[in-house]
Amino acid sequence: MKVYKFGGASVRSAEGIRNIAHIVSGVSDNLFIVVSAMGKTTNAMEIVLDLFMKADHKASLAKLAEVENYHYEIIAELFADKTKGNAAVEPLFAELKMYLTEGVGDEYDRWYDRLVSYGEVISTRIVSAFLAESGIANEWVDMRGLLVTDSNYREANVRMEDSQVRLQKVADFSKNRIYLGQGFIGANIKGDPTTLGREGSDYSAAVVGNLLNAESVSIWKDVPGILNADPRLFENTVLIPEMTYLDAVELAYSGAQIIHPKTIKPLQNKNIPLFVRPFGSPTEAGSVIKATTEKPIDVPVLILRKNQVLITVRPRDFSFVLEESLSKAFAVMNKHRLKVSLIQSSAISISVCVDNSRYLSGALDELGNDFNVNYNDSLELLTIRGISEEIVEKTTGSRTILLKQQTRRSGRFLMREEVNS
Ligand code: ASP
Ligand code: MG
Repeated sequence: MKVYKFGGASVRSAEGIRNIAHIVSGVSDNLFIVVSAMGKTTNAMEIVLDLFMKADHKASLAKLAEVENYHYEIIAELFADKTKGNAAVEPLFAELKMYLTEGVGDEYDRWYDRLVSYGEVISTRIVSAFLAESGIANEWVDMRGLLVTDSNYREANVRMEDSQVRLQKVADFSKNRIYLGQGFIGANIKGDPTTLGREGSDYSAAVVGNLLNAESVSIWKDVPGILNADPRLFENTVLIPEMTYLDAVELAYSGAQIIHPKTIKPLQNKNIPLFVRPFGSPTEAGSVIKATTEKPIDVPVLILRKNQVLITVRPRDFSFVLEESLSKAFAVMNKHRLKVSLIQSSAISISVCVDNSRYLSGALDELGNDFNVNYNDSLELLTIRGISEEIVEKTTGSRTILLKQQTRRSGRFLMREEVNS
């Protein structure tokens, strides 16, 4: 069997969903299809949640009405008889309205997972109904019952063994050739919904591939494949046709948007190739990530990670940084879920670069108990693999560099964000 994953951009419009039907209709293998929420639905649901947490029920319901209309418009365009499509999602919007009206917003992270996960449930209901209507028989499955996770809300980790038992039982391909489930979501052992981290649908697809021993996993994207840089930020980008799991992990860690960093491990563990394929031109090969390649990457790779914060901590008692204080500082950052993208240490201080997030201020407060803390925000981290003087000059040129790390092959430059006039 194969796993196909379609992201938010692929399902943002009726046209995209028709294209999924077109792609899937050409496949004779057994398939497990993983689908994200439509377009920017997750962002919109985060706003619904924030308003709900502020107990502004009226505003949260109004925002939800926007989300609802967006989905009904797509349904109206997609189905000959739109009542069929509407029937697939009406009960879900009713559940959401009930939560928003009667719920009490206590724990943010838990409510996040309970509410925001509906984006995927709704999109998969629509896609499944449309495929069925197009003559593509499929079974819709609820990943909240199949992927068992821990209770680390908003960043849950899948428990592979428990999930395998459930998933293999349901998706055994005896009665159906195609199963369709949600990316990004699961549930803890008690059945409370969880989410796997923003952009986590790739990870879901990889986990499903691992648990069902897939022949391959394909992520369909609105790009030609894996490029050596983000074409929105850099000129003259080129396609990288093949890379190893190791390359992919490094790139994802540096902040390459193409795949979620957690995606590689479940695939590497079972030696399952990951294809990144162009949604708009399904006959093109795209890129493949696998164990080994005869064609090492021979172009410089540029990755820009935005919205970075540089934190420098120095123990208050002037003790040397190594050992105890180092592990103390990292324990605090880990607890507050800061994503560390670079580390540098000196005799009495450690500097780390982290993604800015809603958890930052809590972490800074707690670090302040034992350390003198300094930080700078509005930074961006450029990673260059395959470094040359020319490329450094071209990309960092006149910019203010706060921190630099360089090895023979790669360089990392932490710079102030460029202010666009
Ligand atoms: N819908 C979720 C998000 O936008 C998960 C995903 O798309 O991978 O973050
Ligand atoms: Mg998405």
